[in-house]
Amino acid sequence: MRIIPVAKPLLGVEEAQAAYDAVLSGWVTQGPRVGAFEEAFARYVGTRYAVAVSSCTTALHLSLIVSGIGPGDEVICPSMSYIATANSIRYVGATPVFAEIDPHTYNLDIVDTESRITSRTKAILLVHQVGVPADIDQFSELAKRHGLMLIEDAACAIGSIYKQKLIGSNSDLVCFSFHPRKIVTTGDGGMITSNRQDYVERLKLLRQHGMSVNDRTRHEARSIIFEDHLELGYNYRMTDIQAAVGIKQLERLPEIIEERRAIAKFYSDSLRDLPFIHTLRDPDQGRWNVQSYVIRLLEGSPLSRDDLMRRLLKDGISSRRGIMTAHRETAYRNYMPGISLPISEAASDSSLVIPLYVPMAREDQEFVISRVRYHLGA
Ligand SMILES: *Cc1c(COP(=O)(O)O)cnc(C)c1O
Repeated sequence: MRIIPVAKPLLGVEEAQAAYDAVLSGWVTQGPRVGAFEEAFARYVGTRYAVAVSSCTTALHLSLIVSGIGPGDEVICPSMSYIATANSIRYVGATPVFAEIDPHTYNLDIVDTESRITSRTKAILLVHQVGVPADIDQFSELAKRHGLMLIEDAACAIGSIYKQKLIGSNSDLVCFSFHPRKIVTTGDGGMITSNRQDYVERLKLLRQHGMSVNDRTRHEARSIIFEDHLELGYNYRMTDIQAAVGIKQLERLPEIIEERRAIAKFYSDSLRDLPFIHTLRDPDQGRWNVQSYVIRLLEGSPLSRDDLMRRLLKDGISSRRGIMTAHRETAYRNYMPGISLPISEAASDSSLVIPLYVPMAREDQEFVISRVRYHLGA
C-alpha cells in the first residue's frame, strides 16, 4: 500500500544540475556560491546582510555568542518548540527558562514571558512556531523595556510576513533552517539575517574557526597571506554544493508558499464545521507560510490524538505528533527536573501534523480530509 508522507521537499532537475555544476567547478566548500546565496537571501527578505551556516542550530549558537550570552545568564524561550531552540542556549553555558505559549498561535505568551524575567535574564529567544509569525513588535518592546536582547528562531518561517515585512527583516539576529522538513532545503543548512555590520563580521569569523582571512580571499590573493585565528571559532560553514541548491530553491519559494496556503485553506474550510478541532491561521498582523499543518483535538473529540494517528496510518496516511516540549525530553528531565507547563503540555499532547507538501495531488488532499472526518465521526 502507498503511504502518503507527512512532508516532502520539492527538489527538481534544476537543483540537481546546480549541485552537479558546483561539484565540477572544483570549489565545494564555502566559496562563491555561498556568497551568491547570501546575497540572494538578503535581497529576498529585505535585509542588508545574510550569513550562511551549517544549520539553524549553529545559527542560533552563533547568534547567542554575538549577543554576549554565557554562563550564569538566563534566556527565555518556549519549551514547546523543536529541542534545538533550548539546546542552543545550553551550548553557551546559559540556562533556558521556559515560558508558556498562547494556545491559539503556539507562539510565546507575552504575559507569561514577562513574569519569568529575573535579574539574570539576558535575552528572549522568540520562535515563529511552524512558521506562524509571532508578534515581534510586542516582544521587541518588552525586550527594550528590560534591557534584553531579542533573537528570532525563524527556522520554519522563511517567507512568512509580519506587518507587511518578511520575517528576517524585523530585528538583527534572525535564524533560518534549510532542513528538508522546512519550506525550502539545502539538505542541511542555515542562515542568519541582520542589518548590523559588526554582528555580521563576527558571525563570519566564528563560522570559520575564528580565522582572520577566509579561504576565498586566500585563494584569490596575488601575494602570500598568513592568517591568524582571532578567537575560539567553529566549523559551521555551509558548502558551495548546498548553496547552489539553495539558490534554486529560493527561486521556487513564492510558488511553494502560494500552493501550501491553497492546500491549508482547503483543509481548514473542510474542517471548519467540527467544533472540537483547532487549526492555525494567519495572525491579525501577519501571513503564515504553512510550514506544517497542525490539527489540535479539543474537548468533545470522539478520538484521542494517538488513536487518530493509528487509524490514519492504517489508511495509508502518515502523521506526526504535534510540536514537542523540550522540558519533558530525557535530556531536560535530568537537567532541570520538576518543570510544569500545563498549557504547552496539553497543546503538544492533543495535536498532530497531517500531510501537506508541494506538489500534492488533489485526490490525496481530499483523501486525507475524508479519512480525518470519517474517524472523527463527521
Ligand atoms: C527545525 C528547527 C530548528 C533546527 O533547525 P536545523 O536546521 O535542523 O538545525 C530550530 N528551531 C526550530 C523552531 C525548528 O523548527
